[in-house]
Amino acid sequence: MRDRYYISVDVGATRIRVALFRSSGEIVQRVEASTPRESSEAPSRKIIELIDSFKPKISMRGEILGVGIGSIGPLDLKKGIISVAPNLGLKEVPLVEPIEEKLGLPVALQNDCTAAVIGEKYFGAGKTFDNLVYVTISTGIGGGVYVDGHLLVGKDGNAAEVGHFVVDNRWNLKCGCGGIGHWEAYCSGRNLPRFAKILIEELKAKDSEKRYLMKRCNRDLTRLTAKTIYEGAEKGDPLCLRILEEVNDLNARGFASITNAYDPELISVGGAITLNHPKLVLDPIIRGIGKYLAVRAPEIKVTPLGEDIVLYGAFALISRSIS
Ligand SMILES: [Zn+2]
Repeated sequence: MRDRYYISVDVGATRIRVALFRSSGEIVQRVEASTPRESSEAPSRKIIELIDSFKPKISMRGEILGVGIGSIGPLDLKKGIISVAPNLGLKEVPLVEPIEEKLGLPVALQNDCTAAVIGEKYFGAGKTFDNLVYVTISTGIGGGVYVDGHLLVGKDGNAAEVGHFVVDNRWNLKCGCGGIGHWEAYCSGRNLPRFAKILIEELKAKDSEKRYLMKRCNRDLTRLTAKTIYEGAEKGDPLCLRILEEVNDLNARGFASITNAYDPELISVGGAITLNHPKLVLDPIIRGIGKYLAVRAPEIKVTPLGEDIVLYGAFALISRSIS
């Protein structure tokens, strides 16, 4: 019998990661590159180039059966494109058609968080659950949802854009999507520095209180990053901890809205911020969610699939659609 392989692709705002999977679900090789942003065609060209680099790894008797892609959105699934990618400065980024044409293989596409929750369901913590949500807290905030064993997809593939749940009407910050008060506008890696600066001003933090942060960003708060704030909190810096108190409360509101909307048994959580600071992110959510809940609280824990969750999900997506 021929050796059967699948390709799995994770298209992120900063990196494209591609893995060669054996049909048994084992990763044979992986490669990655920066997500190109020079033209709408550049991302698919880069993906094809990365897939081509696997050729020497595939045995003489081997064949690739298909390509699964989990991508940043919002997507237009019918057209097989990313409709707008504000982080890349690109619009109408075709993914499915150029790869199908160039490689002559079937291609399946889903939003990255939808792919991730499929990964969780078949390879991770979600195996025994019919009601399951995956949340990523990373550059952005996103989610993927199973209710009663059904994957929620939506008319364009954007059924669980939980990062755009409204969690605030006090600071009324504008989100990258244009909406006001959206969770992602406060607590995502991209937007936390802006929110932190507002809080630092509002708290009238003294120079002595700002010492840690000022030192870490060379006395220039415009260089503040989410990483700096979380690392400061890990070290016990009071100002970083105070900033995270507000972030934690908004995270609790976000998780409560998810729970009120979908009634999950488990919310598994990933994304760089969570994976780097699991206790700092999740403990306050677990403690704080109760006062915003209308329904029974779910179990909340870090995904065991770590940063490979979208790759596993894209593999499950394509291998299950073919076999
Ligand atoms: Zn938004």
